[in-house]
Amino acid sequence: MKQIIGVLGAGTMGEGIAQVAAQNGHEVILVDLNTVQLEKAKSNLKKILTKLVEKGKINESEKEAIESRIKYANEISEFSLCNLVIEAIIEDLGLKHKVFASLEEIVAKDCILASNTSSLSIASIGSVLKNANRIIGIHFFNPAPIMPLVEIIPAVQTTEETLIYTVELIKSWKKTVVVCKDTPGFIVNRVARPFYGEALRIYEEGIADFATIDWAMTHFGGFKMGPFTLMDYIGNDINYAVTESVFQAFYYDPRFKPSFTQKRHREAGYLGRKTSRGYYNYAEGTTLPLPTENAEIGKQIFNRILAMLINEAFDAVFMQVGSKEDIDLAMTKGVNYPKGLLAWADEIGLNNVLAQLQALFEEYGEDRYRPNPLLKRMARI
Ligand code: NAD
Repeated sequence: MKQIIGVLGAGTMGEGIAQVAAQNGHEVILVDLNTVQLEKAKSNLKKILTKLVEKGKINESEKEAIESRIKYANEISEFSLCNLVIEAIIEDLGLKHKVFASLEEIVAKDCILASNTSSLSIASIGSVLKNANRIIGIHFFNPAPIMPLVEIIPAVQTTEETLIYTVELIKSWKKTVVVCKDTPGFIVNRVARPFYGEALRIYEEGIADFATIDWAMTHFGGFKMGPFTLMDYIGNDINYAVTESVFQAFYYDPRFKPSFTQKRHREAGYLGRKTSRGYYNYAEGTTLPLPTENAEIGKQIFNRILAMLINEAFDAVFMQVGSKEDIDLAMTKGVNYPKGLLAWADEIGLNNVLAQLQALFEEYGEDRYRPNPLLKRMARI
């Protein structure tokens, strides 16, 4: 099913999405207002494809064919023949509203209009359309050509026809598709919050330092990176902004409360690898601190963070954000967790997870630690 795919915004995500669509044989029109950004996207793609040729993943003529399928443009009027337009401009609702209203003036009646937003409501983005039945969220992960997961988010306005078209198309791009409810953070950015938040909380309580918490999660949990190393990769500005927006969007539910430690690091400009300083110092000539490898404390830290993650995964099932299978797939394919959280819970025993949460809830008396009703119900069976 060869389609004409429009991609709006040639930044980190737009560039990657255009590559994926072109590699799958579609004609792509990549539009950005910024000509420099378009040039950068074009030269980045050339470099990436050249590497793929060197690695023997594609041949020279395939490289040329992929390149020739992408048209770079400054004007959204170029989208007039598109079957689907995926918007990947900056995360600003007001701007997205303006852009979607203009897009509808240009595209065909049956063109699907999608947003790659990480945190905004798809229903709200679609509200500016005369025909909002065609709005949908298509959430790729960074880098889009490499990360297998795509979250597809139908809004309340989206028709079944729009959903089916989108799911089939993105599956044909060899992506792992999960369908999720139009709720803050969708699946991954919601369920993953305790990985960062609980790690920060443990640090703030003085239980362990960054390196020890990271060690606990990689050593006992098999996570590829500990929370502080990962936050330094993502950037404390970005990670903090997602946490804050999820917290606000959940009407200030204490489960998602942001941390002062992260806020202060962001305020200090300790953003992570990109500023050579985050929780760790990456400047030349410095060495990373070593963890205190105390197995008892390490296991406690790991068990506490894992229990909080599992509680969040149960909440996502309970609130029907996605199916049990999709929630486990999302965490393994979207953020490389070593196991799906629900499968992990079965392995540990639901009673054990529940006991851990009840102990935390009892000790702190904070709503943050309340066990999810579905977990309680299932632990009773
Ligand atoms: P980016 O800042 O790298 O790129 C945004 C691009 O949009 C820029 O090139 C800018 O020139 C262009 N732009 C801005 N306004 C425009 C307009 N009116 N018309 C055309 N082009 C315009 O941003 P990004 O990181 O690629 O993020 C894009 C979207 O994808 C955001 O909604 C973000 O939340 C989401 N997202 C980002 C990531 C990530 O890790 N970066 C992951 C998933 C989803």
